[in-house]
Amino acid sequence: MLLVKLWVEYTAVALDRLFTYACFDETACRGKRAEIVFNGKKSLGFIEEVEQTELNLQQASEQLGYSLGVIERVLDQEPLINEELFAMAEWLSKETISSRISCFQAMLPAKLKPSGKDHRIKMEQWVRPAACKGKLTAKQEAAWNALKQTGSLPLSQWRKMAGSVGKTLEEKGWIERFEKEARSSEIESSEAEEILPLTPLQQQAKEAIEASKKTVVLLHGVTGSGKTEVYLQMAQEVVNKKKQVLILVPEISLTPQMVQRVKRRFPRAVAIYHSGLNNQQKYEQFKRVQNGEVAIVVGTRSAVFMPFQSLGLIIMDEEHDSSYKQDNPPQYHCRDAALWRAQRHHCKLLLGSATPSLDSYARALKGVYDLVTMPERINATLPKVVAVNMRQALRQNESYILSDLLKQKITERLKKQEQVMLLLNRRGYSPTVRCTRCLSSLQCPHCDVTLSWHRAEKVLKCHSCGYTQPMVQECPNCHGNSFKMLGIGTQRLAEEVLHCFPDARIDRMDADTTQRKGAHEAILQRLENHETDILIGTQIIAKGMDYPDVTLVGIINGDAGLNRPDYRSVETTFQLIVQAAGRSGRAEKSGEVVIQAFDPDHYAIRYGVKQDYTGFFVREMNYRRLSGNPPYSYLISVVFSGEQIDRTHREIHHFAAFLREHCNERILGPAELFRLQDRYRFRLILKGKNRETMMKCVREAMRFAQQEKMRSRIRVDTSPMMLE
Ligand code: ADP
Ligand code: ZN
Repeated sequence: MLLVKLWVEYTAVALDRLFTYACFDETACRGKRAEIVFNGKKSLGFIEEVEQTELNLQQASEQLGYSLGVIERVLDQEPLINEELFAMAEWLSKETISSRISCFQAMLPAKLKPSGKDHRIKMEQWVRPAACKGKLTAKQEAAWNALKQTGSLPLSQWRKMAGSVGKTLEEKGWIERFEKEARSSEIESSEAEEILPLTPLQQQAKEAIEASKKTVVLLHGVTGSGKTEVYLQMAQEVVNKKKQVLILVPEISLTPQMVQRVKRRFPRAVAIYHSGLNNQQKYEQFKRVQNGEVAIVVGTRSAVFMPFQSLGLIIMDEEHDSSYKQDNPPQYHCRDAALWRAQRHHCKLLLGSATPSLDSYARALKGVYDLVTMPERINATLPKVVAVNMRQALRQNESYILSDLLKQKITERLKKQEQVMLLLNRRGYSPTVRCTRCLSSLQCPHCDVTLSWHRAEKVLKCHSCGYTQPMVQECPNCHGNSFKMLGIGTQRLAEEVLHCFPDARIDRMDADTTQRKGAHEAILQRLENHETDILIGTQIIAKGMDYPDVTLVGIINGDAGLNRPDYRSVETTFQLIVQAAGRSGRAEKSGEVVIQAFDPDHYAIRYGVKQDYTGFFVREMNYRRLSGNPPYSYLISVVFSGEQIDRTHREIHHFAAFLREHCNERILGPAELFRLQDRYRFRLILKGKNRETMMKCVREAMRFAQQEKMRSRIRVDTSPMMLE
C-alpha cells in the first residue's frame, strides 16, 4: 500500500497543511492529482509525496491515530506539476502569506485546479495505420499509403479525406482508432511579417540590454520610441538558440497590435494566454507549453506560471501597469514572480515602460537593475501638450465639460479627417445623484458608496460591487421627488461631444461597452478603419495603442485622480497623463494634447505637460522620502472583514495588540474602510524598513488569529499598490 501526502482544497487557512491518504494505485506519484473524499465531500488533491508501507489500512490507521481515507482515483498519466511549479508555489505562499492550495489555484488553468468544476479533458478520436491484412483495391491502397505517410490524423479529417474508403479500411482492420487530447485552438499560421531595421537608438538599446550582467534591465523608452521592435528582435535571437520567451502584457484585448505582430513574426510557435480564453483553451495552451511545442508565450499576469522548460528571456511590457497586481489571494505582483523565474532559469527579465513605476526606477538608479533609455520617438517628435485651467474657463462661462480650446482643436482635427481620443477616467453618466430637498445622495444598499447614474442602461450602478437598480421615484431619506445629477462620466461626455459635433462619428470604450467578448477588438477595429472620428473612454484607452491618425488627445478632469487618499495617487495621475498623451501623433502627423484640470499648477500636471519623467521622479521621490512611504519603506496591509461590525472591530484590535507586542516596526491603524458587499472592513498597515521581520510578525499574528479562533476574513497584502 502507498501512503500519499497531498494538498487539499479547503478555504480555511487553518488547513494549510498536507493530509495523508492511503492509496492502492501504484501509479500515484508526486505532481499528479487524486480524487478523494474530504470532510464528506468529493475533492481533489495535489500529491506532494508518496511513500511505500508494509502496513495495511487498519494498521496504518492505528499507527496514525485516525482512520485513513483512501484515494478513489489517481487522475493523471503524467505528473502535472513539475519541480519548478512546486518550488514556485512554495515561494508564492511564503511571499504572499497565503495558503499553498490558493497558490496552486492561481498558477494552474481551471481544468487542472481542484476548484474547477469541469475536470474532464476533452478527447478527440484519431486514426493510424495498423497491420496489413489481405488485398486492397487501388483506391484503398492510395488512401492507406497517404495515412501511413502522415502517421496519424484526426478522425474527422480522415473522414473528409477518405470518405467511405476510410470506413472500409477500418472495418477490415487496416487502420485503428485511438484517443488524443483535443486541440481546438491551434494557432492559425498567418503571413510572415517583415523585420524593421532597427534605428541607431534601438540598436544601442538592444546591445546595452544584451551586454548587461544584471538579471533585471529596465528599458525606459518614451511613448512611440519603438520598444516593441526591440522586444521582437531580442526574442528572435533567443528563439534561434532554442530557448523560450515569455512576453507579459497588462491586458490582451488592449494589445491586439502586439499580439498580431508576435504571431506574424513567429507563426505556429506562439501561445496566447489570458483570462478571456475558455477553460479548454487555457488547458490546451498550458499543455502546448509543457510539451515544448511553443517558443513564445504572450500573456497577462497568470502566464508567468506557465510550465516552461527553458526560458531564455522574460519581457514585461508597461511594467508600471496596475493590472500586474492580483487583488485576490494570493495577492502577488507579477513582477516578483517574473523575477523568481528569471533567476531560476538564469535568464534576463526586461521591464519596459515610458513611465516606470517609482520602485523600479529607484532600483535602477541604485544599480540593482541596469537602466537603458530610449529618449526619442521613432518619428522624433513628442506631441505638444497644453493644460487648460478649468477654474478660469468656468469664470469665462465656458462649458465645464469641454473647454473652448479643446472644442476648437477638435474642430481643426475633424476638418483634416484626423482622429481624436478623449479620456475621462469615470464611467457612467454621473457619479452622484443627489436629492435637491435633503441634499443626501443615493447610496448602494450593500456598500458605503454613492450609486452612479448610467443613462445608457437606465440604471443606478454601484461601481464597487456591481449592484444595479432602476432610478428611484422618491428619495429614501426625505421622500422628495427631484434629483440632481452631479459630476460627469463617459456617457455624459459622449452626450456633450455629440451635441457639439453632431456630424462626428463617436465611439465609447469603457467597462460598460466592453463586457461582451470581442467588444474591445471591435471598437479598436472601427478606430483603425476610420469608422470612428472621436473615441471617448476611461483609462483603458491610454494603454499601448498605436494608431497613426490619432493626432489629438483630450484629457478631461486630468487632476481628478489626485483626490484619492492614496500615497501613489500623484504617481498614477502622472503616468495616466503621459501614457494618454503618448497615443497622439505617433506617425508622420504631429500630435497635440489638451489636459483640462482644476489645479493645473500641481506638479503631476506640470511634469505631465512637459512629459518629463526624470523631473517628476526627483520631485516625487522627495515627498516619498519625507513621508517615509515606499520605496523608502515597505508596507504590509492586513484587512479584516465581517458581517458584524463589533466582532470584526474587536478582532482586529486584538490582532493589532498582538502585533504591537511582537513587532518593532510601525503599525498604523486599525482604520475603518468603507463597507463593501455588506461586509464591514478595517485595515492595519505595517510600515518599516525590514521586510523580513515584518513578514515574520504577520505570519505569527496569523497563527495567533487561528489559535484565538477569530472568525473575520483576513486578507494580507505584502505588496499593496493602493491604500485607499
Ligand atoms: P512604444 O511601444 O515604444 O510606444 P512602438 O513599438 O509601438 O512604440 O513603435 C512606435 C511606432 O514606430 C510603431 O508604429 C512602429 O511600427 C514604428 N517603428 C518601430 N520601430 C521602427 C523601425 N525600426 N523602423 C520604422 N518604424 C518603426
Ligand atoms: Zn455596492
